[in-house]
Amino acid sequence: MAILSGIGKVHLDGQKGLTKDKPVKSMDAPLVVYIPLVSGTSTAFDVHVQPGDHVDIGTKLATRKDMYVPVYASVSGTVKAIEKRMHISGRMQNHVAIENDGQYTSVKAIDISNPDDMSQSDVLEAIKELGLVGLGGSGFPTYIKYSKPELLETVLINGVECEPFITADHMEMLNNVEALFDGTEFLIKAAGAKNAIIAIKEHKPELFSLLKGECEKHANITCVEVPDKYPMGWERTLVKQVLKKEYDQLPSEVGVVVNNSTTAISLSKGIREGKAITERIVTVSGNGIKDPTNVKVAVGTPANEIIAFIGGYIDDEVDGVILNGGPMMGNSLMNDTFVIAPYMNALTVLVREDTVPLPCLKCGMCTDHCPANLQPVKIIQAEKAANVDMVKKLEADRCVSCGMCSYICPSKIEVSDFVAKAKRRLQLANMKKK
Ligand code: SF4
Ligand code: SF4
Repeated sequence: MAILSGIGKVHLDGQKGLTKDKPVKSMDAPLVVYIPLVSGTSTAFDVHVQPGDHVDIGTKLATRKDMYVPVYASVSGTVKAIEKRMHISGRMQNHVAIENDGQYTSVKAIDISNPDDMSQSDVLEAIKELGLVGLGGSGFPTYIKYSKPELLETVLINGVECEPFITADHMEMLNNVEALFDGTEFLIKAAGAKNAIIAIKEHKPELFSLLKGECEKHANITCVEVPDKYPMGWERTLVKQVLKKEYDQLPSEVGVVVNNSTTAISLSKGIREGKAITERIVTVSGNGIKDPTNVKVAVGTPANEIIAFIGGYIDDEVDGVILNGGPMMGNSLMNDTFVIAPYMNALTVLVREDTVPLPCLKCGMCTDHCPANLQPVKIIQAEKAANVDMVKKLEADRCVSCGMCSYICPSKIEVSDFVAKAKRRLQLANMKKK
């Protein structure tokens, strides 16, 4: 069945002004970093180091078992342990703890002597060996998107960043325009595509003029502005907005591959400088943070150390919620001891507001605004009745957790939480059947 994705209709108060005009702060790597051994839903890794081993920045620490995704050291020093810590998923997972020796010696994750003469398969191999993943928060291995290049005609670079508060991609693009285009050229080569389009949100004149200027040097790359609506950064919505195309499961069905803008920048740095993703910009924002800002940090830095570095919480006693990501799609965490993963772009701290939900008004607004064309109000009813057949019929599994239904609900019902529960119920039922 074709899924008729509705174009995002809602302008959100993005709160981007809290961070977008401030310079990025650089934080020294902490005394110990903890590199998470988690990739997507997989936690099964072959670990290549053991306690006592010396590592450099860029040493390969481990490789995902079921598909090739390597992870790299972000500091030089000594491996202390493989230990369990809370991961941004909220679960206790294995991390490689490395004691920082303060020397910052590095090795190249890959060594490409002729970047401008690479073949399509060379670029695909580089993407794989760098462990490149979706850096807009998805963490999906990039090379998998290029596994059928014969289907691909257009590379769509997603620089939309529609989630409130987050400006990490914005800052990366502002500071790395040449690398953005260079990485995009490599992605065009990887796809064997004809062209690429870089999409950013409207009302960013400084960034757009930089991109337009660089575009003149690249005949096969164009830049477009898209409306400041949510969830414009969702792949399906963006493909429809920019290319007027709809698909069933994957954008490759209509000849498109979508990558995040920071992913393209990282690919350029990976190929030109041999750098894996060992540091990144993270937006630390929200009304619970004293001085919201973007911070460049080593992968594996604990969140509480970053928050302390930029000035702390507004009040140590404040009752707040800390999120991996932004308020619409982010997940809340129990405390601030988790570390920055390569694929994490933001942490948001919000003061908790005690709102008591009102009864459902049956207004249908959640249904009208769901970008996946689901009927969240009916899914709530099915979930409350524990009716798996109905949950299945209502296709709760197609929910993309955008949070729009909760945001729009006039009764302040946490609609998306009910949909998420329904989705889990369906997954469990499916697992039992196997
Ligand atoms: S979170 Fe709500 S609005 Fe978003 S896709 Fe899921 S059901 Fe639809
Ligand atoms: S938006 Fe809220 S009040 Fe309206 S139908 Fe959906 S759940 Fe009910």
